[in-house]
Amino acid sequence: MAEIRTLTAGGAPADTHIAVDNPATGAVVGHVSDATAQEVAQAIARARRAQPDWAALDARSRAEYFTRARRWLLSHRQEVTDLIVEENGKAREDAIVEIVYCAGAFAHWAKRARRLLAETRIRSLSPFVLGRSMYTRRVPLGVVGVIGPWNNPLLNSFGDAIPALAAGNAVVLKPSEHTPLTALLMERMAHECGWPEDVFQVVTGAGATGQALVDTADFVMFTGSTKTGRLVAARAGERLIPCSLELGGKDALVVLADASLERAVNVTIQGALSNGGQMCTSVERVYVEEPVYDAFVDLLRERFQQVTSGQPGGLGSVDVGAMTFPPQLATVEDHVDDAVRKGARVLVGGRPAPGPGRFFTPTLLVDVDHGMKCMREETFGPTLPVMKVADAEEAVRLVNDSSYGLQATVIGANTKRARRLAERLQAGCVTINDAQTNYMALGLPMGGWKDSGLGVRHGAEGIRKYTKLQAVSINRFPLRRDLHMIPYDPSAYRLILRLVDFMYGTRRPHREQ
Ligand code: NDP
Repeated sequence: MAEIRTLTAGGAPADTHIAVDNPATGAVVGHVSDATAQEVAQAIARARRAQPDWAALDARSRAEYFTRARRWLLSHRQEVTDLIVEENGKAREDAIVEIVYCAGAFAHWAKRARRLLAETRIRSLSPFVLGRSMYTRRVPLGVVGVIGPWNNPLLNSFGDAIPALAAGNAVVLKPSEHTPLTALLMERMAHECGWPEDVFQVVTGAGATGQALVDTADFVMFTGSTKTGRLVAARAGERLIPCSLELGGKDALVVLADASLERAVNVTIQGALSNGGQMCTSVERVYVEEPVYDAFVDLLRERFQQVTSGQPGGLGSVDVGAMTFPPQLATVEDHVDDAVRKGARVLVGGRPAPGPGRFFTPTLLVDVDHGMKCMREETFGPTLPVMKVADAEEAVRLVNDSSYGLQATVIGANTKRARRLAERLQAGCVTINDAQTNYMALGLPMGGWKDSGLGVRHGAEGIRKYTKLQAVSINRFPLRRDLHMIPYDPSAYRLILRLVDFMYGTRRPHREQ
């Protein structure tokens, strides 16, 4: 049995504790404190005190802290990977992806922050501001609250802290109560890398701790369910603070008749089963054009049967790990049972696997339709329903028949045609001949439409959202009076109107009385 660790967040007294289990073994691997609203408020107050000095550093100096952190992360990758696998239960390879992402994010935001947040000169032809010099500048929001989910304890939780810090904010991170240990390790990393005290803090706890963060932070970056996302947005609205929400998905993949079936099957399996299918960007439904449906399903079934699942060990030990979130096992089973009751066929898997630990066998379903939960609700597990469509038009209609709109993929040899189709899909991100790899391109925005969220991470907006805009206008050569000043002078307005006619192209100037 793994050693039991007791960790407390942000210096909070460990009076109440949450036990953290290893989903692959069921063993308790740590305890963390369940921070109260008062403890969250104290963390926010410490962050507020630390933030002005952090914001006063130039982007280059902040980048140096990031460089140290990146080196720390890479030199401690064994320890970080072990911990992610231990508290999340995912395959080791999926944990490594999180480390690669964060190392890249440190480098990306360190390099880009200065340019993306630079002052922007504004020009105006209005006769009212002639001669003024104007610009916009970006000011950090203050303290950013990041609320993270359990599926990617490093990438989704801590990953969002990086651009927020790069923009000059302090960050208080509330990880999921199911996977809080990685976030606490990042707090240790910040300490060992000499980051200024309290610029990055972790408060552990359950939903109420997250709620307390929404009640006190200046901005909330939330990743999780649509249901909780709505609560966060409602509270942020009451407080009139901005928030960014990365919520659920029901991501579709379309296989066109001209696709390379090898590529189509490989992308489908990776998209559906990486991280055990527990990703907002997981492929959760597939539509295949009729001419290639049978061949695609045959090959997919063969490959699904080769996928290994179970308790993760070293590299290559399993492809699919455990179900991290206890209630998720019941959700996945319910979606499969509902499909079977309504006429679907299970080609591979179909049942939870025996413990210890929580596992669901990778499952392939066919003969599905949109009357089934597995085609409409987020499943978040290692299952994949595949549906035959007459043609691409039907696929587009079905892909868009969803309350979600996070990602969608088209696989086809004719990229021009695939692109035309992809652009008709109602999703914040569309990929052609790939699924999920777009997440690693930090210059490319990533965010959902419809019930999948508000705002984006990554791209220019992925850092600008952590700032407020200040507009500056300077009259360097102030005259005694302007044309538009009380007491109004009719001749000044005739001149203004002549200028307007000249600038905005009225051929025959009106005569003003
Ligand atoms: P939640 O949305 O409830 O949790 C996400 C985060 O929000 C967690 O840190 C959670 O804390 C916190 N939280 C819970 N309630 C509140 C609140 N009222 N105010 C502020 N923060 C709060 O997701 P679940 O973990 O319950 O998972 C439910 C479903 O969400 C899954 O079945 C899956 O479908 C989807 N999901 C989507 C993810 C994505 O990447 N978009 C990631 C994870 C889940 P705590 O965990 O301590 O309760």
